[in-house]
Amino acid sequence: MHTKCLIIGSGPAGLTAAIYASRANLSPIVIEGPQKGGQLTTTTEVENFPGYPDGVQGPVLMEDLTRQAQRFGTEIVRGLVTDVDFSKRPFTVTVDSKNEYTADTIIIATGAAARYLGLPDEQKYLGMGVSACATCDGFFYRNRTVAVVGGGDTACEEALYLSSLAKKVYMIVRKDYLRASKIMQQRVMENPKISVLFNTQTRGLYGEELLEGAHLVQYAGTDREDLMDVALEGFFLAIGHQPNTKLFVDKLELDKDGYIVTRGRGTETSVDGVFAAGDVADPDYQQAIAAAGMGCRAALQAERYLIHMQNEL
Ligand code: NDP
Repeated sequence: MHTKCLIIGSGPAGLTAAIYASRANLSPIVIEGPQKGGQLTTTTEVENFPGYPDGVQGPVLMEDLTRQAQRFGTEIVRGLVTDVDFSKRPFTVTVDSKNEYTADTIIIATGAAARYLGLPDEQKYLGMGVSACATCDGFFYRNRTVAVVGGGDTACEEALYLSSLAKKVYMIVRKDYLRASKIMQQRVMENPKISVLFNTQTRGLYGEELLEGAHLVQYAGTDREDLMDVALEGFFLAIGHQPNTKLFVDKLELDKDGYIVTRGRGTETSVDGVFAAGDVADPDYQQAIAAAGMGCRAALQAERYLIHMQNEL
């Protein structure tokens, strides 16, 4: 199947690009990816997306964006992009290792995924106490003791969410301050169920089959260094994200952290006709509204690129 504009990813960037591209009669196809609706579908209340004065649930917002894109003729395909060929035109995108799509322009909006600490124990207890998504798995920890690693907005958000379910929530923060926004810091510090362990790192996890606790170290490498074990049934990672760009290695220019490099203020990548939007190309902001704004720009740039190519013929 051929399209003027193929969009990889169905988060705020991909779906906003689809709204703009479909209104420009580009009949876009969106390849949904592994997580329909992207990361916002694993969050609860979104309070800072303009237009929702009372907040909106993440999954509801994504459902609204999907319907808005479909209203103007976007086709949404369930599947995973397994290969791309940007070396010749039209570009080729393979879905689920079998279905080939060709496209005149591509918008990459594959987002980013949660990072892990890299401890071997994390893999051992994955799904048995270790998780990188409190809103997905928090339910299993009702009246239990859990910990959230990280001091950013995500960690605070997850700790607050978990505090509504769990008996006790520790935040394991490696520095002596929280990096999160002031309002989130305040909510965390005022929550009686949350204890913040500053200057603390995780050395390992323990437990027979299920997670039973974490080996922590405070003030590591100083004369105040102190080892302690904390009994835990849940261990939630919230230490940032890495871009989903494995598919594009050696095909597009990526920065040292793997984010797609875009030119100037635009969304153009190192291949003409291929654009990138949202968290996959934005290490700095990683906000739904910033991703949506970038999706808008990518679609407008794809439209202009197609007009330019037509005029060249
Ligand atoms: P951040 O990069 O902001 O924070 C990551 C946190 O994890 C930091 O506290 C960092 O510590 C810690 N960390 C990183 N690596 C390790 C490690 N190896 N061991 C221990 N701790 C580690 O990521 P977030 O996902 O929290 O946020 C990403 C962006 O999204 C931010 O711009 C944030 O503001 C935004 N966001 C906004 C929300 C909202 O407005 N509602 C909700 C969620 C995210 P250190 O500080 O020491 O580097």
